[in-house]
Amino acid sequence: MNDPVDRDLLLQPRPPSPVQEVRDERFARYGVRLVLKRDDLVHPQMPGNKWRKLAPNLRIASARGAAELVTFGGAYSNHLRATAAAGRLLRIPTVGVVRGEELASRPLNASLARCAADGMRLHFVPRSVYRRKAEPAVLARLLAEAGAQGAYVVPEGGSNAAALTGCAELGRELRGTADVVAVACGTGGTLAGLAAGLAAGQRALGVPVLEGGFLAAEIRSLQCAAFGAPLDNWELAEGHAWGGYARVPAELEAFAADFEQRHQVPVERIYVAKLLHALTSLTTAGRFRPGSTVTAVVTGRPDPEPAPAA
Ligand SMILES: *Cc1c(COP(=O)(O)O)cnc(C)c1O
Repeated sequence: MNDPVDRDLLLQPRPPSPVQEVRDERFARYGVRLVLKRDDLVHPQMPGNKWRKLAPNLRIASARGAAELVTFGGAYSNHLRATAAAGRLLRIPTVGVVRGEELASRPLNASLARCAADGMRLHFVPRSVYRRKAEPAVLARLLAEAGAQGAYVVPEGGSNAAALTGCAELGRELRGTADVVAVACGTGGTLAGLAAGLAAGQRALGVPVLEGGFLAAEIRSLQCAAFGAPLDNWELAEGHAWGGYARVPAELEAFAADFEQRHQVPVERIYVAKLLHALTSLTTAGRFRPGSTVTAVVTGRPDPEPAPAA
């Protein structure tokens, strides 16, 4: 039987996450107010945008009476961990399809160990197959191999049309409080959804943590799927990926540690550190007009284990 308290905590709307102004001379010097949207505090078990994106999907899966949840991720995926935690709380079995067949024969890292401890069944697949997981035939074969044919499938990173509606709520919580709302982007689902919740005149700014330049098209197509058309109140600031996903060079690590010290805020390294560093650079470069308020979304908490060194 599901514990109704756990279920409600997971599925019911939550109060807005707090906002916190930080006094930082690197912004104040340019007349810019920096505010943190502490979405890392939005949910006790599932921080940040992973809860925003999963909750609407869990409601659908639950309404459909899905027997299992299946999703996809790499060995350090925050989304895999959040899905595993959700499955434990809802008593829905979860299956994680993990990129990298070679990992099957190694001890689990802390992130995957956490997934397993929450009851997630891990199914390791070769990278060549993982890359093609969106193709219907490949997906069907993966589900069959994992013994999860009747499962509700949540895409990699959790970004689908339902997820965008959850992130639009994040945007609505920020109406009237910021000129620019900035967020780090992996799949871009959080940015795509939050832009839809903002008021007229507010703009969203995404900082991609992966290199490649494919993201803008991806965001437009997510917005078409969720809202029927792309929106034009957002843009991306490219050039702040520091060599790619999960790379945390010493200079970025030092910046993040210093930010934590100054402001007593835990700084997740893979996304949030890159966002905050990008905002200091953009402020220095005059990107934000004096007198403006920039709200940075703190989308998650630090990892249980540092990512491998760059
Ligand atoms: C997953 C994640 C993101 C990226 O969100 P997308 O919707 O995939 O762009 C940003 N920040 C944190 C902390 C995350 O875990």
